[in-house]
Amino acid sequence: MNKPAVHVVGAGLAGLAAAVRLAGGLREIVLHEAARQAGGRCRSYYDPALGLMIDNGNHLLLSGNYAARNYLAAIGSEDQLAGPQEAEFAFVDLATKERWRLRPNAGRLPWWIFSPLRRVPGTGPFDYLGLLRLLVPGKDTPLGAVMHCDGLLYERLWRPFFLAALNTEPTEASSRLAAAVVLETLAKGGRACRPLVAAQGLSAAFIEPAVDYLVQRGVKIRFDHRLRQMEFANGHAAALDFGDDLVQLDAADKVVLAVPPSAAQGLVPGLQSPEDYRAIVNAHFKIAPPTNCPAILGIVNGTIEWLFAFRERLSVTISSADRLLDVAREKLAETIWAEVAEATRVEKPLPPWQIIKEKRATFAATVDENARRPGAGTAFANLVLAGDWTATGLPATIEGAIRSGNRAAGLIAASRLR
Ligand SMILES: Cc1cc2nc3c(=O)[nH]c(=O)nc-3n(C[C@H](O)[C@H](O)[C@H](O)COP(=O)(O)OP(=O)(O)OC[C@H]3O[C@@H](n4cnc5c(N)ncnc54)[C@H](O)[C@@H]3O)c2cc1C
Repeated sequence: MNKPAVHVVGAGLAGLAAAVRLAGGLREIVLHEAARQAGGRCRSYYDPALGLMIDNGNHLLLSGNYAARNYLAAIGSEDQLAGPQEAEFAFVDLATKERWRLRPNAGRLPWWIFSPLRRVPGTGPFDYLGLLRLLVPGKDTPLGAVMHCDGLLYERLWRPFFLAALNTEPTEASSRLAAAVVLETLAKGGRACRPLVAAQGLSAAFIEPAVDYLVQRGVKIRFDHRLRQMEFANGHAAALDFGDDLVQLDAADKVVLAVPPSAAQGLVPGLQSPEDYRAIVNAHFKIAPPTNCPAILGIVNGTIEWLFAFRERLSVTISSADRLLDVAREKLAETIWAEVAEATRVEKPLPPWQIIKEKRATFAATVDENARRPGAGTAFANLVLAGDWTATGLPATIEGAIRSGNRAAGLIAASRLR
């Protein structure tokens, strides 16, 4: 007799995390992915213009992202994440030329705000208390209604922090999502705030080891296999239509739909999901970073926000970057390089570059869009949802995507086999 099957649709982090949790169990797992490779919005590729492997976007994790770290441990690649032993963020203000290092202490009691050597220059310890109002549970409102979104501390810490985490201008961002990020990181102390990056690339850390792990456990992976339509009968998903083949589902078969919200809306009748997105622009420059360049540099009062130093390139992230989508790539490269050169004190002409504009990088982390996020369960008994856009309580992040996949797998594992 055939084992009951779980069809995981979408091999981004949410789908991979679900499949990793379910692999090797009592069910046959089949992973279907529309693209020719896994990874979705979190992957590496060879860029001919640079002659280098690069990531589709620079991805920053914090050490408090426990689900992401557990996922990496499960697939055997936790050592791919690199970062300092203690929480430390280098910053430069391009307007004033000041440079500083933000260094939250390891424990929960935030004594670092009393140390001028650890806090933001120009701020006093009591300025930081403004964040407390955000942590009082209450109605979800725009962040601008719960905290002062101006002043030195905002410009030098809260705006860069929330913009990076939410990919939405903090003034309009959901206070509930902002609070969730603070509670999982800063509120737990520096131990949960160490910055981590996949030093050898996103695919080497998150994607290739996961695919190997699944293949070794007998999971069938079907690339170039886009789900076109789902058929429903009697409150169940009854068939998956991939165009060239139709997969009929048996009574005990399950489906994890781990595709982006725009695709899910077209597949599941009556599904409500986020519909507004924010862009991210990344710029990559083929140049060896100067020896004194920090691995991650926060930039204040510039177009660029974060600068990442990799072995053979300097890479830049600009969040909530919709305003830049229509700017010519050559112009962007020139502008961004001028800021990178100033921030790193490199006096060189524009090196070989690449600009990647991800128009729909994440859903907009606003109050309205957060309210549109569905849970994992659906109106159909054998269909569960996963993805960074489902109601994880977190913004659209690696951590949220992996937790959503874990949750979907948990629901399936808890359901009866027959
Ligand atoms: C430029 C950029 C920078 C980012 N920076 C950070 C960061 O610094 N830190 C952080 O934590 N997060 C960051 N993120 C967010 C993070 O990448 C995402 O939250 C995460 O990758 C989402 O994973 P997912 O599986 O939910 O969705 P996706 O990665 O979108 O996966 C969905 C998969 O479904 C497939 N698919 C779509 N339709 C179908 C179909 N009909 N049939 C079959 N397959 C289908 C897609 O091809 C894709 O592989 C960033 C994202 C971007 C784009």
